[in-house]
Amino acid sequence: KQAVYARMRDVEPFTSDGTRIEVMINAGLRDDIPMLSLSGADGIGLFRTEFQFLVSAALPQRDRQARLYRDVLEAAGDKPVIFRTVDIGGDKSLPYLRVETGREDENPAMGWRALRLALEREGLLKVQARALLEAAAGRTLNVMFPLVSEPWEFYQARAVFERQLAFLHGQKRKLPEAIHYGVMLEVPALAEMLDQLLPELSFISIGTNDLTQFLFAADRANPKLAERYDWVSPSILRFLARVVATTAGHDVKLGVCGEMGGRRLEALALLGLGFRRLSITPAAVGPIKELVSRINLAELQRDMAGWIASPPVDMRSTLRAWAEQRGM
Ligand code: PEP
Ligand code: MG
Repeated sequence: KQAVYARMRDVEPFTSDGTRIEVMINAGLRDDIPMLSLSGADGIGLFRTEFQFLVSAALPQRDRQARLYRDVLEAAGDKPVIFRTVDIGGDKSLPYLRVETGREDENPAMGWRALRLALEREGLLKVQARALLEAAAGRTLNVMFPLVSEPWEFYQARAVFERQLAFLHGQKRKLPEAIHYGVMLEVPALAEMLDQLLPELSFISIGTNDLTQFLFAADRANPKLAERYDWVSPSILRFLARVVATTAGHDVKLGVCGEMGGRRLEALALLGLGFRRLSITPAAVGPIKELVSRINLAELQRDMAGWIASPPVDMRSTLRAWAEQRGM
């Protein structure tokens, strides 16, 4: 694996029939920064900002947040970085952030977390917005909101950023050159409202870790449920196919940042569905780039369309056989 990693580092991921696929990495800590150049990825498709909060003894102050974000942007140079606003609460609870629900969440993944918490604790989001806007002065800032369930949550979160932007403008401070806003699609309900939200978005990233646990009502962290569903099951692929279709024709970058994108057969399925951007764990970048280079995308997409219309009994075996027949 190490060898594939090094060999593929400087290779641009094109399919054998010439489509450029964006292969980005998921990151979250200062230590992850070197992974961008080491892996030769196209950017950071998911920067989990809550990691800094989780490893801190107290709420990280604005200047500490800004310093981290600036260092990440600096290291990334011209490559895009997508900063996800904090996804804390639920099972990623912070001792220094008092929970005021009056009771413990019985279903933390579906609880008071991520943007739900950030919109109520507006001070938290405000500070983070300021830190991101200051860190990205003179650059492009990509902001992504986690666990959006309905469009109004996106509008409110963006408004927090826009107010901070107006404030900085009033102070004659240097601003980002461009700000792109996007959402994570990880709550199934949002998919039903995408047509409304699309004109407002620059990008969508599908968080398949959360999305699939909600689609199947199966806790992603419970080992007893690990076999309950398969990431390449037809219900997941059909869901994703609909999102691709809804997004088509809009000027919105669509990607996947869940762990499934870093696995071979899963990546094959995603590319077959029409995804052109995967954000994955750094160790998977080399192997996935190599896979990409062997794919005839036109053929894969045609076959995937058939499987979606009329799913085989065992999608995983079908995909595996498809890959093996082609020497992958
Ligand atoms: C996801 O849910 O797929 C995702 C990428 O976010 P996280 O794993 O941090 O919840
Ligand atoms: Mg998630």
